[in-house]
Amino acid sequence: MLDVKGFLSDKEAKKLQELFLNVHHLGAVLEIGTYCGKSTLNFAHVAKEINGLVYTVDHHIGSEEHQLGEEYFDQENFDEALNRVNTVPLLQKNLEEVKEITNIIPIIGDANTISQSWQTRLGMLFIDGSHSFESANNDYENWKHLIEKHGALAFHDIYEDPSKGGQAPYKVLQKAIDDGFKIFDRVDTAVCLTY
Ligand code: SAH
Ligand code: MG
Repeated sequence: MLDVKGFLSDKEAKKLQELFLNVHHLGAVLEIGTYCGKSTLNFAHVAKEINGLVYTVDHHIGSEEHQLGEEYFDQENFDEALNRVNTVPLLQKNLEEVKEITNIIPIIGDANTISQSWQTRLGMLFIDGSHSFESANNDYENWKHLIEKHGALAFHDIYEDPSKGGQAPYKVLQKAIDDGFKIFDRVDTAVCLTY
């Protein structure tokens, strides 16, 4: 497996692959938060075996924590010409390196905007975008109705303990449970639900 810059542990990647294989017959996977393609490529490797598609949405300007001076700023993702974070070039480079992977559909845009016209139903939704409550909540509220019955909803960066990480994704996960989603599996900070 290609070594891709990103925020997914190997265990999380393996679990998400396994979960997608459970629901792929229901539809494609769509993830919010491509970054440099780490989770994307992990999904794509298994999706390829079953002719499945991976939609991945990112405006590629980075989340709050990726900006200049913030904790997860990465010089390699700073575009001098645009004078801002731009993760498209590294994503593109990573995709170039795995020519056999042809089932990824990268969508460059804001997940809020894209959701307004999106119609394709999903086997799995993976939410791994910004960690502000407003944004994580939008990612859930705007996309949840597209998941097929018995399909999968997965969140990354779930921290029950506030001293370990931000609480927004966890709060949104609790909303999903209130809506009737049930926790199906978990590894590290990746939690998967179904309904
Ligand atoms: N899944 C990636 C990590 C994603 S990091 C991995 O496996 O490594 C979070 C990403 O969400 C960032 O690249 C950021 O640009 C993107 N993002 C944040 N808010 C967004 C929004 N409203 N619409 C689209 N992308 C968003
Ligand atoms: Mg994450």
